[in-house]
Amino acid sequence: MKYTLPQASAQTILNILKDTIPLPKLVKAGADPYQTLIVTIISQNTTDINTERAFEKLSRRFKITPEVLSNAETTEIENCIRIGGLYKSKTRAIQTASKIILEQFGGSLHQILGSLPVEDARKILMKMPGIGPKTADVVLLFSLDKPTIPVDTHVNRVSKRLGLAMPKDGYEEVRLSLQTIFQPKDYALVHLLLIGHGRKTCKAQKPQCKICPLIIICPSIGGLS
Ligand code: SF4
Repeated sequence: MKYTLPQASAQTILNILKDTIPLPKLVKAGADPYQTLIVTIISQNTTDINTERAFEKLSRRFKITPEVLSNAETTEIENCIRIGGLYKSKTRAIQTASKIILEQFGGSLHQILGSLPVEDARKILMKMPGIGPKTADVVLLFSLDKPTIPVDTHVNRVSKRLGLAMPKDGYEEVRLSLQTIFQPKDYALVHLLLIGHGRKTCKAQKPQCKICPLIIICPSIGGLS
């Protein structure tokens, strides 16, 4: 068996978290996939606030299109997104992806990926330098309405503590476990709620089990992983 909690408990987890976790605003469902890609690249290893500031600065300086960003001065993009850290490698990823989207996809991610099955679309995105599985899954889920669950550090940790994935599972195993347990219509909610719960209560170092709304069904009180 791939996971330890029965599906009824998984649904209970979702219902409890829906009542207790405010959803973040940054990733908007239905946003343009190219813009989501740029936001998600900027968001790697930084906070939501810094991501928002960096993207706002970039948007004030440039129109966010593959044509404009692939031809922009590299140092100008770097200066705009500097606050988010790793700005040189992120700028490189932004400009390389923009060039590929412009030259190979006619400038539109939607056009090239929109009609493809999710796993084929993932492979195309992940071939681009600097685009890993989490970035690809965020774009596919939130901007192209594809059935996938991005697994960030919070989703990974909380899933394992709650018995939704096995302790040694890697990215793909956690993603596929969650996708087996939950219904596709809930994938975005599952991603956002597990992140919110990981930030607010089920923290990496000191999980707040005494005040956790999931304490009665959690198999890892005290945080075993
Ligand atoms: S009881 Fe503790 S380990 Fe379990 S989900 Fe809540 S905070 Fe995390």
